Amino acid sequence: MEFFYRCSLCQRRYTIVPELTLCPECSALQLPDQPLHGILEVELEGTVGSELDIFDLLPVERSYFPPAPVGDTPLWEPLNLRSQLGFEKLYIKDDGSNPTSSFKDRASYLVSAFAKKCGIEEIALASTGNAGSSMAGIGAAAGQKITLFLPKTAPIAKLVQALQYGARVYRVDGSYDQAFQISLEYSRRKGGMNRNTAYNPMTLEGKKTVSLELFKTLGRAPDSVFVAVGDGCILSGVYKGFRDLKQLGFISEIPKVIGVQAENSAAIYRALRTGEFTPEATSTVADSICVDVPSNGLHALTQIQTFNGELMTVSDEEILAAQARLSASTGLFTEPAGAAAFAGFLKAAPGLDRQQTIVVLTTGNGLKDSQSAQRGIHMPQELISSLSDIL
Ligand SMILES: *Cc1c(COP(=O)(O)O)cnc(C)c1O
Repeated sequence: MEFFYRCSLCQRRYTIVPELTLCPECSALQLPDQPLHGILEVELEGTVGSELDIFDLLPVERSYFPPAPVGDTPLWEPLNLRSQLGFEKLYIKDDGSNPTSSFKDRASYLVSAFAKKCGIEEIALASTGNAGSSMAGIGAAAGQKITLFLPKTAPIAKLVQALQYGARVYRVDGSYDQAFQISLEYSRRKGGMNRNTAYNPMTLEGKKTVSLELFKTLGRAPDSVFVAVGDGCILSGVYKGFRDLKQLGFISEIPKVIGVQAENSAAIYRALRTGEFTPEATSTVADSICVDVPSNGLHALTQIQTFNGELMTVSDEEILAAQARLSASTGLFTEPAGAAAFAGFLKAAPGLDRQQTIVVLTTGNGLKDSQSAQRGIHMPQELISSLSDIL
């Protein structure tokens, strides 16, 4: 198999080299406060055998990947939910069970391997929390130096995680979007690799593995997938996996992908309706999908439009209720962003075909943000000192 970069906008083809991140021609047309222009996708050329080996479809050889068990996450069959809701083929793919407890490990894993192959020892990035703690953890497994720029609003568990993994962490007095700019400037001056989501083409490519795994586990592609959307990189990664499977003849149709945004952080959802990205100050209980300007917004929007996907929004109340419902009915505790995908499914359920194979992606572990999760439960206030207090 051979691999190239192809610009998602102008379709120019490039050789894969670490200095190249965005298409030079298209990124020159970048406007301020707009999604990244000229995102590069990895293009495959060649064929594979009839048995799918995921590493065959990745642009870095297996020997460069760090010794961490990324991916192959469990696909839950939530029997209680299935019978409560009447969906016999509902599945939950739990990416909170990755080594650093979020989906971001899929991207970090490939970025780490790519840096290793290129002889690059430092990786810098900005993150709302999970990408940073993920790169820190996977980088620790690889013996790489990780420099992280985190907005001050990042949940404490994600900050502590990154520090535990030994990353150098700078807390930014501002939003994720500001941290993003600072980290780019840092990489420009200091060299090394930058892992910013969407900006580094390997992030999108790494995220495609979830779809390849779904195909392997189910023995077919699902009919639809619900996924939370912030920058839109996971959504595009999900599509990329299905597109590769189609290109290689494993599947004949691209499944329906339903992206779920938080009501007050819904830039891509709005752009689908209005045709333009208008930055707005955002806020949601789901910190991982709280994004003013979605870096992968243009690309994600094009995927949705090309493959007949859908975007929807859910409120913070719906997210918190879905989080508690998922926990109590399945035993799977996911962070608010992961619960947003489930909230989207619950909201869409009345209009869905119950015979379909539907996958909800839960993208992060609930313990990563126990502060937010407290809002969806009743914390017992009274203390007891003996059993007679309650009998
Ligand atoms: C990053 C993240 C998302 C959203 O991914 P995007 O690529 O930004 O759309 C969803 N859930 C969790 C837990 C995340 O960490």
